[in-house]
Amino acid sequence: MRSKKILFTFDYELFLGANSGSVEGCMLKPTSKVVALLEKFDLRGIFFVDTLYLVRLKEVASKSAKAATDFKLIQKQLVWLVNNGHCVYPHIHPHWLDAVYDSELNTWSLLDLSKYRFHSLTEQERIDAFDQSMDCLSEILRESSIPFSINAYRAGGWSIQPFADFSNLFDKYNIVADFSVMGGSRRDTNALSFDFSSIQPNSSPYRFNTQVASKSPNGKYLQFPISSLAMEADTFANRIMRKVLWRIKHGQNYGDGKGVKFVSNGESTKYDLHMEMLSIELLTLPKLRQYCSFINNNDYVQFISHPKMLSPHNLLVFKRLLSIMSDMYQIESDWRKITF
Ligand SMILES: [Zn+2]
Repeated sequence: MRSKKILFTFDYELFLGANSGSVEGCMLKPTSKVVALLEKFDLRGIFFVDTLYLVRLKEVASKSAKAATDFKLIQKQLVWLVNNGHCVYPHIHPHWLDAVYDSELNTWSLLDLSKYRFHSLTEQERIDAFDQSMDCLSEILRESSIPFSINAYRAGGWSIQPFADFSNLFDKYNIVADFSVMGGSRRDTNALSFDFSSIQPNSSPYRFNTQVASKSPNGKYLQFPISSLAMEADTFANRIMRKVLWRIKHGQNYGDGKGVKFVSNGESTKYDLHMEMLSIELLTLPKLRQYCSFINNNDYVQFISHPKMLSPHNLLVFKRLLSIMSDMYQIESDWRKITF
């Protein structure tokens, strides 16, 4: 049996725009559903937790019973994940610092995007945000019954550049691996901004030093790049299918909030339109064959998904994909066991 390295990564977070949505709909419910599927095939997930959200939630929990309950439920799920062999790491969306809590609805509004990029914070704010994130996650995982080292990171909004903003913080906490780069992609918007065009799409994991998008064979840090498909994936059949599924609710995602509206600056949208991340939330029946052939052609694959974006249809097709793949390949889904 051929062996494949397939990483199933998730950004564990609420919606990050006008309405955050609920913890149950965006995080707890879809996470437990997708994890049940992974475990059925003896696979493990890697969860990047929106830690600054947890820091803010903990703050308001002293005054709001609903927020306190949400915090406890998230904590319980994260501890459960680690106890069952899944990985849990920090993921920082700095604009949580300006989020406004609605105690009546128990939701947040994140309309101020001025701190969307980690780089837009002052040096002291960056240190504080990272320290608070690490402290919060370490405290939560202290309850787990197996030892777990928090040694990997994914930047919120792919904002890992310039890496100089992070290198001292990575070293301070012994973070050795980053999962923020999708080779070949580039965006420049009102909020997010990155340029990974110097890395080939679907590169294998590599080492780097001072620049995330520049390979350095003896580099100090590991980069596990996110996989991507050619945009032709979104065929006419797929668009029709999405419309039908939405109408019958099978294609509607579990998450119940509103995301950020990105407005592109200049040329970068054109540049990025030809690629699409490999993701469970984008996996529909018409795309199943393309996903199978992608995995057949690549020995290293990284999915990036968001529990809040998953629909019953996505999960059904994902189950079919996993069933096909596990019959054909020996799958390693734990990045810590990948050597290169
Ligand atoms: Zn995120």
